[in-house]
Amino acid sequence: MARRKKIYEGKAKILYEGPEPGTIVQYFKDDATAFNAEKKDVIEGKGVLNNRLSEYFMSGLNQIGVPTHFIKRLNMREQLVRQVEIVPLEVIVRNYAAGTMSKRLGIEEGTQLPRPIVEYCYKDDSLGDPLVTEEHIAAFGWASQQDMDDILSLALRVNDFLSGVMMAVGIKLVDFKIEVGRVYDGDFMRLIIADEISPDSCRLWDIETGQKLDKDVFRRDLGSLTDAYTEVAKRLGVMPKTSTPITKPTLIN
Ligand code: 5GP
Repeated sequence: MARRKKIYEGKAKILYEGPEPGTIVQYFKDDATAFNAEKKDVIEGKGVLNNRLSEYFMSGLNQIGVPTHFIKRLNMREQLVRQVEIVPLEVIVRNYAAGTMSKRLGIEEGTQLPRPIVEYCYKDDSLGDPLVTEEHIAAFGWASQQDMDDILSLALRVNDFLSGVMMAVGIKLVDFKIEVGRVYDGDFMRLIIADEISPDSCRLWDIETGQKLDKDVFRRDLGSLTDAYTEVAKRLGVMPKTSTPITKPTLIN
């Protein structure tokens, strides 16, 4: 049987040509990397969890009118998404200080910010995704002023949605990263949310205990990453029904 064409392999996902023009199959790997891939491991079950969680967040966003690339989940590890032209920016929204913001500005982790703060990093692994300003973005032509207005509005809508969803299950949305892509309907171009939204790209802390339920568990060696992601999936009611426990995949396939 002809194998479908691989378009791109990243650190946590593989993209294959989709069944229709303009579609892509996004495969979630179990690979975990941190610190620009200096730290690496394979975490059994992570891909399955992130596929489910990204489906949950993206389809929720689609339902409230925030456009995303998500079309449908195909199986445990794959989802069908719209092909986009990725804008070479990582868009980070922060509600509480943590990570690089805490380091850079000397603000204690967990400090509530006066309002959500949006930051942009240039997507380039060889440079370690450096922080850039809107001046860089405009001068180097990565996005127009209109694009930046749209990106800011999308990022803040995602923040409102995700904060609410997580708060309802006792989790604080500290920060997250999204990526956006361009789609063309005839001559008309619009920006939609792409890539993934999962605990790999968010900071999620239990509201009561402060326990970390995101990729910092891996970055900082705080315990089992699968347990943390499973906890998030359980609280949201998106645990795959067929795989208990998720860390012991069947040997059938
Ligand atoms: P920080 O800048 O503090 O390292 O990250 C801020 C937020 O963006 C965190 O939720 C982090 O997980 C996410 N983030 C930043 N860069 C990346 C990246 O290259 N990949 C992923 N998956 N998430 C990122």
